[in-house]
Amino acid sequence: MPPGRGSSMLLAGKNALVTGASRGIGAAIVAAFAAEGANVWALARTRSEAFEATLAGLAAAHGVWLKPLYADVSDPAAVSAAIRLAMTDKQPLDILVNNAGAMAQDKPFQLTALEEMEALFRVNFFGAVQLSQLATRWMARKGRGAVVNLASIAGINGGSRLDYSASKAAIISATKTMARELAPLGIRVNAVAPGFIQTDMTQALGQQVQADTIAKTLLRRAGTPEDVAQAVTFLASDRAAYITAQIWGVDGGML
Ligand code: NAP
Repeated sequence: MPPGRGSSMLLAGKNALVTGASRGIGAAIVAAFAAEGANVWALARTRSEAFEATLAGLAAAHGVWLKPLYADVSDPAAVSAAIRLAMTDKQPLDILVNNAGAMAQDKPFQLTALEEMEALFRVNFFGAVQLSQLATRWMARKGRGAVVNLASIAGINGGSRLDYSASKAAIISATKTMARELAPLGIRVNAVAPGFIQTDMTQALGQQVQADTIAKTLLRRAGTPEDVAQAVTFLASDRAAYITAQIWGVDGGML
């Protein structure tokens, strides 16, 4: 059914901006949003014909528009330019998903240079904060909006890589502060904290770490990008109208 009045689709007629849209959880969020009737500016780091073909296929399948945007989220000038380009479409923005993220190198914090930690924070934290600043100014024109940040269970429990865990803890804290500041403007801000999700990021962890992590998960399986995308879709939708400042674990039960 095409989006519009009377549609039962969760995001019918909404316009969303999703970062890290090229693969993994971000690609699943774009697909889930399109299937629920949302138009999407899909932000990727690198221009790619395959990415643009995927967007065109989803747009045709679901009767929505999906437009590529390109920026390295750690480059403030590139992020500003991407948002300015999206704004030339003269559409309101309803939803921002800060999904783009990078994993830290596997080494003790004693051996991690501050420059490396700073570089990771530029992607995982400052990129998301800058996008949130620009996007929520745009949303505020309409007096409504929803931001969903991708945190991590590592940001709650502390993980083995200090810079990654700390960057996600910072996103959790920022989610609550943004929610407080933006509530009077009609903008909700929440985060999901995935556990162990099967993507390129976790493939890099190695077989033993993957098996050990699944053994500690109540549901005894790795999550899929679609598992995370469903939670993000709900939090972005009007069905979550009374939910803000929350951090939702999507982790199969990691106690
Ligand atoms: P992924 O498969 O490694 O994909 C990461 C995405 O982020 C890619 O689209 C990548 O673009 C983009 N990205 C990375 N650095 C970027 C930069 N500087 N500028 C723009 N885009 C950049 O990771 P994922 O597993 O889907 O993770 C998505 C989010 O979920 C991340 O924030 C991650 O920390 C979080 N998360 C994941 C898990 C998990 O188990 N997988 C658990 C907890 C939290 P390119 O294609 O250009 O590299």
